[in-house]
Amino acid sequence: MAERILIVEDEEKLARFVELELTHEGYQVEKAFDGRTGLSMAEAQEYDLLLLDVMLPGLSGLELLRRLRRTKQTPVIMVTARDQVMDKVTGLDMGADDYITKPFEIEELLARIRVALRRRAGAQPAALALTSGPLKLDPARHEVFYGDVPVQLTLREFELLQALMENRSIVLSREKLLDMVWGYEYAGETNVVDVYIRYLRAKLDDAFGVKYIHTVRGVGYVFRDA
Ligand code: CA
Repeated sequence: MAERILIVEDEEKLARFVELELTHEGYQVEKAFDGRTGLSMAEAQEYDLLLLDVMLPGLSGLELLRRLRRTKQTPVIMVTARDQVMDKVTGLDMGADDYITKPFEIEELLARIRVALRRRAGAQPAALALTSGPLKLDPARHEVFYGDVPVQLTLREFELLQALMENRSIVLSREKLLDMVWGYEYAGETNVVDVYIRYLRAKLDDAFGVKYIHTVRGVGYVFRDA
């Protein structure tokens, strides 16, 4: 069955161009030209992916994402204008799965869509839980507990922690982590890893007064049993 993608984009010409390309690739595509319409469509229906412009009339892309995440974990690729670095980081923080900067090559967009959809599909199979002392990460249930306390992680944070735990005591470079978690080369964007390491530390190490995630200066990061 064709995967359904919702494009929320107020530049109608761009939306139609992307729609044409995605339809050509075999996706089933719908469009919304403003934030409110986009949100109500995304809430009412089951899309496999949202392509979400940040600058939208009515409701901004970030606000749409924030509201959508109250109820749904639909994968979201944010579309930002050049130099909207803050929006990019805020978007990832609020649970976007990826972002792409305008103007973009359609091939790059298609690659990112494939990765986001594959990641979602790959999140299903049952795998053994990873533990370290009271810390337990369950890939099958997509849950993390510290003792009895649930640790609320975004999809990316979860996958980053999983990658670190699966390679415990092995130092992973930023490039390696990007490749494992983000799935392809983010040329020059390795600071995304640092941003996510910071989120993880806040929710795990700092929150529980432990030290699992270690920085190896000039090399990368490593998970060690606390
Ligand atoms: Ca726009």
